[in-house]
Amino acid sequence: METRKDIAVGSHIWAADPELAFIDGIVVNIKGEEAEIQTSEKTVVANLSKIYPKDVENPAGGVDDMTKLSYLHEPAVLHNLATRYEINEIYTYTGNILIAVNPFQGLPHLYDTYMMEKYKGVPFGELGPHVFAVADVAYRAMVNEGKSNSILVSGESGSGKTETTKMLMRYLACLGGYAAAEGNSVEQQVLESNPVLEAFGNAKTVKNNNSSRFGKFVEIQFDKQGRISGAAIRTYLLERSRVCQISETERNYHCFYLLCAAPPEEIEKYKLGNPKSFHYLNQSNCYELVGVNDANEYLATRRAMDIVGISKTEQDAIFRVVAAILHLGNIDFAKGEEDSSVVKDDESKFHLNMTAELLMCDPQALEDALCKRVMIAAEEIIKRSLDPLGATVRRDGLAKTLYSRLFDWLVDKINVSIGQDPHSKSLIGVLDIYGFESFKTNSFEQFCINFTNEKLQQHFNQHVFKMEQNEYIEEEIDWSYIEFVDNQDILDLIEKKPGGIIALLDEACMFPKSTHETFSQKLYQTFKDHKRFIKPKLARSDFTIVHYAGEVQYQSDQFLDKNKDYVVAEHQHLLSASNCSFVAGLFPPLSEETTKSSKFSSIGSRFKLQLQQLMDTLNSTEPHYIRCVKPNTVLKPAIFENINIMQQLRSGGVLEAIRIKCAGFPTHRTCIEFLGRFGILAPEVMRGDYEEKVACKWILEKMDLRGYQIGKEKIFLRAGQMADLDARRARVI
Ligand code: ADP
Ligand code: MG
Repeated sequence: METRKDIAVGSHIWAADPELAFIDGIVVNIKGEEAEIQTSEKTVVANLSKIYPKDVENPAGGVDDMTKLSYLHEPAVLHNLATRYEINEIYTYTGNILIAVNPFQGLPHLYDTYMMEKYKGVPFGELGPHVFAVADVAYRAMVNEGKSNSILVSGESGSGKTETTKMLMRYLACLGGYAAAEGNSVEQQVLESNPVLEAFGNAKTVKNNNSSRFGKFVEIQFDKQGRISGAAIRTYLLERSRVCQISETERNYHCFYLLCAAPPEEIEKYKLGNPKSFHYLNQSNCYELVGVNDANEYLATRRAMDIVGISKTEQDAIFRVVAAILHLGNIDFAKGEEDSSVVKDDESKFHLNMTAELLMCDPQALEDALCKRVMIAAEEIIKRSLDPLGATVRRDGLAKTLYSRLFDWLVDKINVSIGQDPHSKSLIGVLDIYGFESFKTNSFEQFCINFTNEKLQQHFNQHVFKMEQNEYIEEEIDWSYIEFVDNQDILDLIEKKPGGIIALLDEACMFPKSTHETFSQKLYQTFKDHKRFIKPKLARSDFTIVHYAGEVQYQSDQFLDKNKDYVVAEHQHLLSASNCSFVAGLFPPLSEETTKSSKFSSIGSRFKLQLQQLMDTLNSTEPHYIRCVKPNTVLKPAIFENINIMQQLRSGGVLEAIRIKCAGFPTHRTCIEFLGRFGILAPEVMRGDYEEKVACKWILEKMDLRGYQIGKEKIFLRAGQMADLDARRARVI
């Protein structure tokens, strides 16, 4: 490597540091490729290639847009965010991407009506960075150009996506609301859909006390006058397993605890009691949430249900199903004759009867549906008994099916009740969807989530790239040699038909003899030369995908099961015959055709289709991006964990966006700004009476820089050139 022009003895720099990510200091000596750096505490030695110039002229409070940084690189970006976070400036732009760092504390006045008024109609960038500014620019673009817009909110669990989404919706409802609406206005219903969906779709996890366990795209429709005229909510992949299985310190879905805290007459009606007495809740020792009163939340949820148009009868049926699921989970099985199972004891019998009563079905039929399997062989129907373990699996299967159907019903109901505007020409979509996940064990859910993120990443890259190009076109400069890394190859690996992972999984699911091992073998064979696929050493069925945000090793053992979406026929018969029309309605009769032909429907393929529809919608809109960042893992204010945050900026594509900028001309300065800073390098030019652009050109030529461009009003510098100029300037001053 040739020695760096932008770094010399005396340079202020950032050096990589294993603990802090980066540490700043001054170069005191350079020997070959190694630089000796004096930091405030120690002297360190670092390779020249791992050193980044530090801008000492940055304003003390940081800059509100990363593109204003003189040097656009990781340490500068990170330092800028940290500086701002310290003074509770949680929002920062990177061009038109908004980065939001979760404050983990209510910041007074940040979202009050005064603030909303302040942002109304003000051009983007004129006021400090804010979610309201993003919502405003989307709204104005929609009203003025009649074009649909979308706001994509992403980030890891607990980073603030859902809170951000709610702020966006509040602001849009405020802009597009009718001044004097009577009854429950559309915008009010749109807002109140949040608490309803949160009660049934959110839960406490290790990462977030109110973690959304589903993805959500809210499409707000506007009429010609820019007023909200309808809305549609689409949800993605509710986590089903949580209904029956929770880990220590986590909770099940909020609604279960809310119902256990309902007024006494309802507790009596549903035969509920302490959440500790229910198996689906007592697997974890956590029952309460700090700062949340479940009894109040129950009433608030009921009120929100009223507003979104769920009738009292429906509400009663909904909570009956919720209670039934709790009782269902308390039915235990014991070994009966031979390989059969029976309901274990009187207590289990009580819960069986309660479940049947609440679901309004026959208790004996319920017991049979749990303990016996119907086999149809030739002309004969054979009832086979299940052993206790088999019956327990069945029981949990029924609980999950009931819950997910209930959730889907809620979403459908809210959509019907809010209503769609068939005449709406323009909409604003708000996407609140799970970010990239990589855990110790990664299963089918992580696979789907990361697939989603690959899709969104591609969309993001293409957009950032296009925006960047647009600016070059506007300034009439040559941009043809900018490239960016596309992740199409990962998408092909996952979704290509035929031959992608999802297609192979579906094949495996349809073939009765497949196991997760044969499925994995097939993957190993098919993708042995694929750059994005790795068979981990010693792995027998694990596989690794090299995602844009890093490698993730997946455990395939539950992939087949989790990909299969079918309702056990016995459960279908049982519940479609319920005397409660609500319950029966959750299990509409299957047509003869579907019962016979498609025993299996693929969750993976259906998800892929849903995702494609989402991408089609997004592609027809003007996108805006908000990247949420979780500053620490302890969920507390004022703690900024550098390395953790850098990883998030990487996975969220913020650094990729910056890389795309750097591949082109990361520094844009108007000629006037440029002369102000670097005029001193050529006093003779400054003394002459040249046009600004000509003067800039003279300076750049004198400094012997290559590859820069001069646009109509701006100077476009390549990466490193600003630092180079600064270094020379420092020698002159
Ligand atoms: P995500 O949806 O990304 O998982 P949430 O939006 O649920 O994360 O945020 C997690 C928690 O962080 C919230 O419950 C809240 O306590 C806090 N939080 C997030 N955003 C903000 C904000 N803008 N102001 C104050 N607190 C916030
Ligand atoms: Mg959320």
